[in-house]
Amino acid sequence: MRLIIATRNQSKVREIKGILSGIPCEIISLIDLPDKFTIVEDGETFFENAAKKSIPVSSMYKKDYVVGEDSGLVVDYLDGEPGVYSARYSGPDATDLENNHKLLTRLKDIPQEKRKARFICCLSLALAGIEKAKFKGTLEGIINNRLQGKNGFGYDPLFCIPRLQKTTAQLTTVQKNKISHRAKAFFQLKKFLMKNC
Ligand code: IMP
Repeated sequence: MRLIIATRNQSKVREIKGILSGIPCEIISLIDLPDKFTIVEDGETFFENAAKKSIPVSSMYKKDYVVGEDSGLVVDYLDGEPGVYSARYSGPDATDLENNHKLLTRLKDIPQEKRKARFICCLSLALAGIEKAKFKGTLEGIINNRLQGKNGFGYDPLFCIPRLQKTTAQLTTVQKNKISHRAKAFFQLKKFLMKNC
C-alpha cells in the first residue's frame, strides 16, 4: 500500500518523509503523480482545508491512503486571526514579511500577557474517497513585538516559545521539528499507519 501526501511543496514532503520513516508503506506525493489537481483552500477550518486536499486525490487513487495537511497561526486576542488566512493575511500574494508586519500592527500596544497564540496543524487521512481519520497538533507561544531569528518561514520570527525564550526562527530545523505542531500531528498519523497500513 502507498501513502500519498497531497502536496507539491518539496520541503514539506522532505520533512514529512523524515517524520514518517519506518511506516510499512511507500510514501509519495503529488510531485510523483501525472495528474494535476487544483486544490482550492476555501474551507472555514484547517480540517476542512485538509480534507479538500485528501478526498479528491483519494477518489482518484482508491487503493492508496492519502493525507491532506493544513496549518496556520491562531492569535487569541484577534479572535483566531489569521487562522485559515495565515498564508494570505495581508493579501492574495502576500509575502511572509508583509504578513508579519500586519500581525504586528494588529497587536500594536497590546501587552505581553494578551499575546497568546498557537500554531495548528490538521491532517485528514482518506481512503477510497472517504475520510478515515483526522489528527491535530498544536504548538503554544506568544507573539513578540519584533522579528527575531533567520530560520524557518511564515510567522516564525514573531512566534516565541516562552520556556525557551526564543522564537521558532531562532531554533534549528532539528529543534523545531521535535516540538512543532506539524511533527505532533504527523507522529499521530505515523502511529495510526503503523497499525493500519
Ligand atoms: P499551509 O499549511 O502551507 O497552507 O501554510 C499556512 C501558513 O501558515 C503558512 O504560509 C505560514 O504563514 C503559517 N504557518 C504554518 N506553519 C507554520 C510554521 O511552522 N511556522 C511559521 N508559520 C507557519
